Formats: sequence, C-alpha cells, structure tokens
Amino acid sequence: MTKLYLAIPCYNEEEVLRDSAEKLLNKYSTMMAEGKISADSRIVFIDDGSKDRTWEIISELHTENPIFQGIKLSRNRGHQNALLCGLMTLKDKADAVISIDADLQDDINTFDEMVAKYEDGCDVVYGVRSKRETDTFFKRFTAEGFYKILNHMGAKVIFNHADFRLMSKRALNAFSLYKETNIFLRGMVPMIGFKSDIVTYERSERLAGESKYPLKKMLALAWEGITSLSIQPIRMITWLGAIVFGISLIMIIYSLISFFCGWSVSGWSSLLCSIWAIGGLQLLAIGVIGEYIGKIYMETKRRPRFIVDKVLDDDEQ
Ligand code: UDP
Ligand code: MG
Repeated sequence: MTKLYLAIPCYNEEEVLRDSAEKLLNKYSTMMAEGKISADSRIVFIDDGSKDRTWEIISELHTENPIFQGIKLSRNRGHQNALLCGLMTLKDKADAVISIDADLQDDINTFDEMVAKYEDGCDVVYGVRSKRETDTFFKRFTAEGFYKILNHMGAKVIFNHADFRLMSKRALNAFSLYKETNIFLRGMVPMIGFKSDIVTYERSERLAGESKYPLKKMLALAWEGITSLSIQPIRMITWLGAIVFGISLIMIIYSLISFFCGWSVSGWSSLLCSIWAIGGLQLLAIGVIGEYIGKIYMETKRRPRFIVDKVLDDDEQ
C-alpha cells in the first residue's frame, strides 16, 4: 500500500485552510478505508511565512488529528521554494508525494488515479487541466502564450500543468540532485526523466480568499521560468545584433552611394531614429545579459533555498 504524503504550501490561507483540511481528511479517510493508501499517510502544510493565523490553524489541526503535520518556514520565500521545502523534507518519509495548492482548485478526486498510475510504475504523474474556464480571459491568454514561448525555447513544459503532481520517492531523490537556487519546478521535473503519465481534471474556483499570485508575482514566475530553463533570450539578442549590424551595413553603403552621387542628405530624422533604436537595443541586450549574470551570481552563492523554523510531525510527540 502506498504511503502517500501531501505537500501543501500555504501563504496567508486562514480563510480556506479549515475547509481544505476537512475535505482532504475526508478524501484520505475514504482512500484509507478502500485500502488505496496506508494508514500512516500524512497531510503536510508548509507555512510560507504567513502573516495571518495560518500557522495557528495548522497547529490546531495537528493537535486535533496527527494526520495533519506542519512545517513553518522562517519567512516568506514564495510558492516554489515552499513547495521545494515540502518535497525535500518528505522524500525520506513517503513512498510518493502529491503537491497541491491550499485552495484546492485542483481536483482532489484525481488522487486515486494518480496513486493507481504510481502503483503501475509511473514515477511522476502530472495533473493537467482540461479546461481553463475558471480563469479570466487575460490569465488564459497569457498562460497559453507563456507555455508556447517556453516550449519554443526548448524547455519541456507540460501544457496546462501547474504544480499539482505526484512524485515517487525515486523521482524526488533524483530531483534532490538539482541544487540550483533559481527554481521553476514544473520546468525542472520533466528533466529527471523516468516513466511519467498525466491525469486530467477540471480546475474549480478558489474556495475563499484571493489569489496569492497577483500579476506581478505571475510575471516574476514567468520570467524565472524562461531564464532558469533556457539561454535562448541571450541567443536572440545575438541574432538581433547581427540583424541590426546587417541593416547598418546597408545604411553605410546607401550613404556612400548618395555621397558619391551628390544626392542631398536630409538625414536628421533617420539619424535620430537610428540612434534611439540602437541605443534601445543595446540597453535591452545589456539587460538580458545582466539578468543571466545576476543568476550566475545568485547560484555561486549557494544560499539555502529555504530555512525551516518549526516542524510539527509524528517525531516530536
Ligand atoms: N503561496 C505560497 N507562497 C507565496 C504565494 C503563494 O506558498 O508567496 C501558495 C498559496 O498559499 C497557494 C499556492 O501557493 O497554496 C498557489 O497560490 P494561489 O492559489 O493564490 O495561486 P493561483 O491559483 O491564483 O495561481
Ligand atoms: Mg489557487
């Protein structure tokens, strides 16, 4: 029987946590009764430095029922790091870990299918959304564009898959070999290989509270995704540079011809435009290169990706 752990990152989730915990407990009880998961399976919340009552609720849940466990990060490190902390802490205890958001927008009824696929020999099972109807048009549009860009840049990202997935102990151990600081989990997990499969589900609305991913964080995640998975942007800058250089050669030839032919030069506006265009391009290029240098700088520091403050689990009793 599979010893299944859940890793649930929570940031200011006091409004949904109790409801979510109840739903998860029901689901777990049914799965245990049906003999799909073992009795020592656990539900683990990772408090990502919340400023509200999230940690108190997790502690209460743990006291009420030790099936709930908690890990408290020393401060807010963002969804990806909180999740990583969960996966890395639980990999030694569980046979398989499912990661899911605290708002349960992802369908918990797919757990059965995920576990069945795991027992069939899959090391990674990706949860894939069949529709994106619950998202705004803007989010759907930008998300689609983002996946397309990433795949175009050679990063293998599973379309419409966020961070709802099952990973086996073997997959987690392999994943722990990736030590980079800048992480984008859904792009990195496919890199480890092994047999994988998908399960599809319909994503529902957030239970309560508001999205912890405002536009700014979404853009940051997208940029992180692109620059931590691909060096294509730097290459594009090189190509852009080559094209601009080509255009400037044509301009030089044109200006020489016009000089020798004695055409009058009315070049003020074209001069101004090209100065702006080239200046802009240079700044852009420096910016992109700087971004990668910044990443190298961060990676060389080898800073910890998360720091655990407190743990609530079976061991401390
Ligand atoms: N989250 C986190 N740290 C953060 C922001 C979000 O751990 O800094 C968690 C949040 O509690 C939730 C998950 O990440 O469990 C996804 O956030 P949300 O549901 O708000 O994102 P959305 O579904 O709107 O993309
Ligand atoms: Mg959500």
